[in-house]
Amino acid sequence: ERLISSEADLNESYLEQSLRPKTLTQYIGQTKVKENLKVFIEAAKLRNEPLDHVLFYGPPGLGKTTLAAIIANEMGVNIRTTSGPAIERPGDLAAILSALEPGDVLFIDEIHRLHRSIEEVLYPAMEDFCLDIVIGKGETARSVRLDLPPFTLVGATTRIGLLTAPLRDRFGVLSRLEYYNEEQLADIVDRTAELLQIGMDRTAALEIGRRSRGTPRIANRLLRRVRDFAQVLGYEKISEENAVESLERLQVDKLGLDHIDHKLLLGIVEKFQGGPVGVDTISATIGEESHTIEDVYEPYLLQIGFLQRTPRGRLVTPAVYQHFQMEVPKK
Ligand code: ADP
Repeated sequence: ERLISSEADLNESYLEQSLRPKTLTQYIGQTKVKENLKVFIEAAKLRNEPLDHVLFYGPPGLGKTTLAAIIANEMGVNIRTTSGPAIERPGDLAAILSALEPGDVLFIDEIHRLHRSIEEVLYPAMEDFCLDIVIGKGETARSVRLDLPPFTLVGATTRIGLLTAPLRDRFGVLSRLEYYNEEQLADIVDRTAELLQIGMDRTAALEIGRRSRGTPRIANRLLRRVRDFAQVLGYEKISEENAVESLERLQVDKLGLDHIDHKLLLGIVEKFQGGPVGVDTISATIGEESHTIEDVYEPYLLQIGFLQRTPRGRLVTPAVYQHFQMEVPKK
């Protein structure tokens, strides 16, 4: 498992649950998203109606699931959680929907992975709070409408582009989550440290924040690993120096890059004069699948401006040479 992966690790989910902020006020960063949600929640409560359907999109680990739970909490309703791939048949979704209480939140993670036939059950449910069910077969088949309690669908996706237009259009609120800055990540680290009763200097929290790839999930994970070192080495309070030392030992560099990022970037520099080079060629050189490179390794490197996508392939930028203290070649 990659330490800096932004996907949740299975053993982590229980801990993550306990670290989740419960209210909008406790939720750090994403100011615009938060301000808007606050208004929508207040208005829905004034009208005594469920909140409009909400879609959160953005990279993993940025707090989409957390926001879904916060919405339910702020609205004072229950949340029922499922995911696109977990719903196998239209009947599964129908069962989930008809078990909801009025006003409940239904959270569907990875909603872009819903089967088309299941999506079609969702349309009337979202629009008119009803289910269209076909009873019988052949000539005697007839369709009946069943009423559902009004509810709020909260969807989350890392790939908004894969959502079908009819599904996307049925959400009243579309919110894109952004990567967090260093200060916000340090605030998240501080908050987690307090919950886990870890003593830590602000400068140490900032150091962890800086190496967390803009992602709260990674920040919390790095904090726990740094705490391991502190405990074993017998430090009472984690200083900046302790944090730097631990992170170096974990091989997470100043920008949150690890050996796989290094292999990828240095591979392009050393074997292809910095590119452009096609993903398939990179894949063959470093022995990683193309789609893993595209979905997992590249996004953060593109985000920090270390890689560029061109029609002729990937290109490293001068920032990469500076990061590795190499001379930028003249082309
Ligand atoms: P996603 O659903 O986008 O993958 P999660 O909601 O599961 O992300 O968040 C991952 C972890 O990061 C959770 O444990 C949560 O506590 C923490 N987290 C995310 N966003 C925030 C935030 N804004 N403030 C504090 N903690 C956060």
